[in-house]
Amino acid sequence: MTRTAVYPGTFDPITLGHMDIIRRGAKLVDCLVIGVTTNPSKSPMFSLEERLAMVRREIADIPGDIKVVAFDSLLMDFAEREGASMILRGLRAVADFEYEYQMAGMNQQINAEIETVFLMADVSLQPIASRLVKEIAMYGGDISKFVPPVVAAEVGARVDAIGRKGS
Ligand code: ADP
Repeated sequence: MTRTAVYPGTFDPITLGHMDIIRRGAKLVDCLVIGVTTNPSKSPMFSLEERLAMVRREIADIPGDIKVVAFDSLLMDFAEREGASMILRGLRAVADFEYEYQMAGMNQQINAEIETVFLMADVSLQPIASRLVKEIAMYGGDISKFVPPVVAAEVGARVDAIGRKGS
């Protein structure tokens, strides 16, 4: 039986933390489906198409059977459609725990056949969050330690277009 996992997220933008989780996850399963949500409630900096292109480009060199798919439905429906038996989530700190715990618990009740599995990124990458990357960039800070080089350039260009804060 092929073991498939879905790794869902907004990836606005994809960070080195996400990539570390993807690398680890891809080793655990036969097929990893990265699910990129539309998530309009988060008013993303990058459009769905831009985020899909970014993720596809950045994971191209990661070994394993990995595909990148957009979704705009209930996560458990998406996972079922993809034939997944696992939802992969990254866990950072205590702050993530509360939300993830609740979501995993509710998803368990929606579909008990699909397990949520949590992975931890490398210690050095754990504090990275897309939200903070955008905030640092908005204030003209250096984000090259947190995202791949091309993503850093894309965030920089987007911030220039929107207009930096504090300038
Ligand atoms: P969401 O909007 O679903 O939180 P994100 O793109 O912010 O989407 O994150 C997707 C997943 O990756 C989440 O499970 C999140 O906890 C995890 N993640 C993000 N950054 C890191 C990191 N630095 N280390 C470990 N997990 C992470």
